Amino acid sequence: MKLAINGEQKLRTVPFPAYNTIDKQEEEAVLRVLRSGKLSTYIGSWHKDFYGGSEVKALEEEWADFFNVKHAISVNSATSGLYAAIGAIGIEPGDEVIVTPYTMSASATAILLYGGIPVFADVEAEYFCIDPKSIEKLITPKTKAIMAVDLFGQTCDFEELRQIAKKHNLKIIEDAAQAPYGKLGTEFTGTLGDIGVFSLNYHKHIHCGEGGIVVTNDDELAFKIQLIRNHGETVLDAKGYKDKKDLHNMLGFNFRMTEIEAAISRVQLKKLKNLVLERIENVKYLETKLKNLPCLNIPSVRKNSQHVYYVHPLLFNQKNTSLHRNKFIDAVKAELPSTLMREDSPVLLSYGYVKPLYLQPIYQQRVCFGAYPFNLTNRVYKKGDCPTCEDLHFNTLISHEFMRPSMQHKDLDDVVKAFEKVWENKDELI
Ligand SMILES: *Cc1c(COP(=O)(O)O)cnc(C)c1O
Repeated sequence: MKLAINGEQKLRTVPFPAYNTIDKQEEEAVLRVLRSGKLSTYIGSWHKDFYGGSEVKALEEEWADFFNVKHAISVNSATSGLYAAIGAIGIEPGDEVIVTPYTMSASATAILLYGGIPVFADVEAEYFCIDPKSIEKLITPKTKAIMAVDLFGQTCDFEELRQIAKKHNLKIIEDAAQAPYGKLGTEFTGTLGDIGVFSLNYHKHIHCGEGGIVVTNDDELAFKIQLIRNHGETVLDAKGYKDKKDLHNMLGFNFRMTEIEAAISRVQLKKLKNLVLERIENVKYLETKLKNLPCLNIPSVRKNSQHVYYVHPLLFNQKNTSLHRNKFIDAVKAELPSTLMREDSPVLLSYGYVKPLYLQPIYQQRVCFGAYPFNLTNRVYKKGDCPTCEDLHFNTLISHEFMRPSMQHKDLDDVVKAFEKVWENKDELI
């Protein structure tokens, strides 16, 4: 016996380095705000501060400039941003929005919040993003939009998505929470649809604890998002809006970002490019070594695009072994240590990603706000709806976060050695 999962020695016990992008610069930014005493200056009625304070406004200007987009609107999370985006495009009860099931749950709950019906399209076997080929057959007269998620940091097939959207008069919301600084040609991920949403939560490439940014080139959509962010219903009779006829979804929320979060985000934005490039470098290093293992396939990156690796996906090659992926990965995990600052989390390696969303109880039982909005549709959600996604999740996809910028070559070498050790000793697992 050699393998740690069978009780033998682990390949490595020294924890992997912590990933912490916060330093003196963020500290100074926070102190600047604290000392000003103005932790937020938002006012929920018609006033210049309806749009937030100086840090919020500066962040929005810098973000728009960086991503070459007309409007950037800060919010307190990407989840809030997705809610505001679905509201802004005018989704009404019973409207259908086509979405990938392989994503964080909020990409679909945003649709439900406005009474919309999430319709799940299958994903691409090669890239794991929503598959344009599976979208067209799901379009009905009720379809109003596509929610495209740049999963793991890979850009969706926007060339195809835009053609479908144009042909059927659909809006595209791009959930780019996992893909800041991704690119398709010269355009940035997040700016490829009608509205894009970024996340600034603790787990993302850059963060301010919790936060999000919504971007759009459309003035009208931008204004609606700003209204939804800050109690929109209170300003509808004010100067500037009372003549508008379209009052759909103008019920507002408090999705406002604080000045502290905005100040931190401004510093983090300056670090984004280098943090992403380090991830790409680390992935390259890992892939040149891992590609020699017969049980692994290295997934492709879409032509003409930049993958930014929120997660680095791998594929388990079942053709070369009778071993199941899960057994293999459990054994690799057993060889590796925890990560500093994330000591309580399991090793940052897993099989699959999140369970395909339509398999969650709320879809299976069609229960949301009571029976609403599922009572507006005959659609049922069942196992087998998206076979490619299910096969990836239950059999072949492997995801890990070892490419995070703090990892050095010697750390990455240990990751590779753990995979190799388990492969060499796989007979112990069969
Ligand atoms: C993280 C994430 C979100 C939600 O981000 P929050 O800022 O935590 O609300 C939404 N969609 C995707 C794809 C994500 O990865």
